[in-house]
Amino acid sequence: MPKRCVIIGASLGGFRSARELRRVGFSGEITLIGEESFSPYQRPPLSKQLIKKTFPLERCFLRGSVAEPFSQQLGLTATALDSHAKKIQLSDGKEISYDLAIVATGAKPVTITTAAPSDRVIYLRTIDDALRLRDQLSNEVRIGVVGAGFIGSEVASSLSHQVSRVVLFDSDEQPMSKAIGPYLAQALKELHESNGVETIFGTSVSIVDSQNEDFVSIETPSQQFAFDVVVIGIGVRPATQWLKDSDSLHFDAVGALMADKTGRVLDTDDLYVVGDASSWFDPIYQQHLHVEHFESTVNQAMQVARSITGAPSIDYELPFAWTEQHGQLIQTVGVRMEDSKDEVIHQKDHLLVTFHSSEKITGAALFNNSEALEWTKSEILASLS
Ligand SMILES: Cc1cc2nc3c(=O)[nH]c(=O)nc-3n(C[C@H](O)[C@H](O)[C@H](O)COP(=O)(O)OP(=O)(O)OC[C@H]3O[C@@H](n4cnc5c(N)ncnc54)[C@H](O)[C@@H]3O)c2cc1C
Repeated sequence: MPKRCVIIGASLGGFRSARELRRVGFSGEITLIGEESFSPYQRPPLSKQLIKKTFPLERCFLRGSVAEPFSQQLGLTATALDSHAKKIQLSDGKEISYDLAIVATGAKPVTITTAAPSDRVIYLRTIDDALRLRDQLSNEVRIGVVGAGFIGSEVASSLSHQVSRVVLFDSDEQPMSKAIGPYLAQALKELHESNGVETIFGTSVSIVDSQNEDFVSIETPSQQFAFDVVVIGIGVRPATQWLKDSDSLHFDAVGALMADKTGRVLDTDDLYVVGDASSWFDPIYQQHLHVEHFESTVNQAMQVARSITGAPSIDYELPFAWTEQHGQLIQTVGVRMEDSKDEVIHQKDHLLVTFHSSEKITGAALFNNSEALEWTKSEILASLS
């Protein structure tokens, strides 16, 4: 069995890979390298309980992270990887060699040039970002949220009863519509509005943080707004830039590192990738999928540990995500294709929408309907198989 496994990225994917390697009997050395100074932590509470102040910071940290039998080098960035020589270059000028490596560097927010990250402009990805936002909250503060995807929509929901004004902007007509489809997106839009979130949708916005003023301005073609803090959630990109000079690695259209269905990076030996940085071949959809969600990252970490040690593979799981907004639970399972035709299935007050493409059910979204989740998964699997 190889001696040294180096894991780059010390967060959900990296930590869970390390823990699972130990659980399935990997006895070599494991080193986690992470650019953040915090011990591995989970991000879902950052846009929910942490900024709602219903959750202490300590509960974000992944359990057992200190006591696990692997070493961590935190506050250190990997700057290059040579997959032939099996060496990784680090930001302190040193080099670390590996027998096996797992890339778990996640994703970084897409930024806007006129709105650099600052105390007033927050791209919510890390604990530092969440604490900067949380520390400024009061019932006098005006918050603008740009981007009504998972993160922006959650932030608007979490802050709606805490501050004086929340305005949510998106160029689409509805929040999260690509992920959950227009029917549920309309229900979510109404939910935001009934909870006091102002929605400005279907329009472009420009954001200007002039540095000289004590507010950030957001302009649409017809209106101008001033906010004390603006949160921007217009998407993320895989944090794989540091690998771009490595020979023979393959990246998908958004820059995610491509791997086979076991997590092994294409055309390499002993190099694996998990989580938001990855694009794995999915045997059910018969294509590479780039998924940016918690459960998929955990499943990939479990599978990679098994691929490395030869332990039996985990059972296949469809991509799955959840979000909580205004006290309601929204879950998505499978994939919503761009040409999706959605079918709305009412179940009393609980909703289920199935996504159809090429005469198959490719995915679904559920609104306060977790009892229907297992049935929905089996319908999707039966349709796709
Ligand atoms: C605010 C927020 C809320 C979320 N809520 C949900 C939710 O409700 N449900 C859900 O399913 N998913 C949610 N997600 C998504 C989920 O958190 C991610 O899918 C998950 O964190 C991916 O894990 P990862 O380990 O791949 O990447 P990350 O968690 O991004 O971790 C990657 C780590 O690698 C480090 N790193 C990057 N580059 C380097 C480098 N070159 N060298 C060393 N270290 C590096 C980063 O600093 C980071 O610490 C949320 C995400 C955020 C930001």
